[in-house]
Amino acid sequence: MSIPKTQKAVLFREHNGPLLYTDVPVPEPSDTEILIRLSYSGVCHSDLHAWRGDWPDPTILPLIGGHEGAGEVVAIGSAVKNFKVGDLAGVKWINRTCLTCEYCLRGEETCCMNQDISGYTVQGTFQQYVVADAIQAAKIPPGADLAEVAPLLCAGLTAYKALKKANLQQGEWCAIIGAGGGLGSYAVQFAKAMGFRVIAIDAGNKSQMIKDLGAEVFIDFTQCDDLAKEVERITDGGAHGVINFSVSSKAMNVGIKYVRTLGTFVIVGMPANAVIESNVGDHVNKQFNITASSVGTRAQMEDVLSFYSRGLVKSKIQVFPLSQLSKVYEMMEKNKLQGRAVVDNWR
Ligand SMILES: [Zn+2]
Ligand SMILES: [Zn+2]
Repeated sequence: MSIPKTQKAVLFREHNGPLLYTDVPVPEPSDTEILIRLSYSGVCHSDLHAWRGDWPDPTILPLIGGHEGAGEVVAIGSAVKNFKVGDLAGVKWINRTCLTCEYCLRGEETCCMNQDISGYTVQGTFQQYVVADAIQAAKIPPGADLAEVAPLLCAGLTAYKALKKANLQQGEWCAIIGAGGGLGSYAVQFAKAMGFRVIAIDAGNKSQMIKDLGAEVFIDFTQCDDLAKEVERITDGGAHGVINFSVSSKAMNVGIKYVRTLGTFVIVGMPANAVIESNVGDHVNKQFNITASSVGTRAQMEDVLSFYSRGLVKSKIQVFPLSQLSKVYEMMEKNKLQGRAVVDNWR
């Protein structure tokens, strides 16, 4: 397949500025990079933040956003050993890590102090061809549905790692706050596949949908007078793991009350300026952990794709043309998307 010199991309020159669907040069891979011809790219809330420019860390400008890209390798750098032309590959939020800092050396690469972020500090996946560091690029199994895989590269990975951080054993209770959302609905499926008993917490008419994904119990928190008591009653003492994907400060501060003795509370959702308050007496008596989780490692990415290949996790997606990315952002802001949004990079 011949590689063109130019391609279509969506870029912006300033935060909140126009999202231009325009021609840009096809990038060339360095010695350690691969060039991927993207088929689909998931759209994540972080992409919206990158465009708005409302997070503390600055992005590069002009910026091509996107960090859930799935496609086929069409060229490799001279030093690349782990990919060949024709392989399927994915671009993740973490595009490159230094492999040498204190955290990389401990296998905690998500905390790398010198990382490149796709669609944030390096150009992302809202274009037809993208370069990615070969070490961090995800190896997508042959035959995978690339539209379905795309959101697993960030949302799926983030949900999976949060479950790993809860440190649960088979048969233990896992309460998932925000279970009906993009990350939450992945987490329910992973938790079920990992043998945990899932209490899904969300609002509205989502009970059947969430139970179909594998939750044992659904609680509509808006219809529940005392959520903490209800979870304690169902689990006979509290959930062994409580994971918060919601962006509600209140949900977190209630969630902390129904963690079981010696259990773990995992923070993922980040409400602006939120503070968790844990009663020190309860905390000491129950000796539970409060921890947090962000994206995931290469090994966890491999796990996620393996779960997908075995049919244990599915993506609910809505596909749009790349040229209509601004419409997707609009729908995202109005909370109108059904499942994860994915753009077709060739329309
Ligand atoms: Zn993301
Ligand atoms: Zn590092």
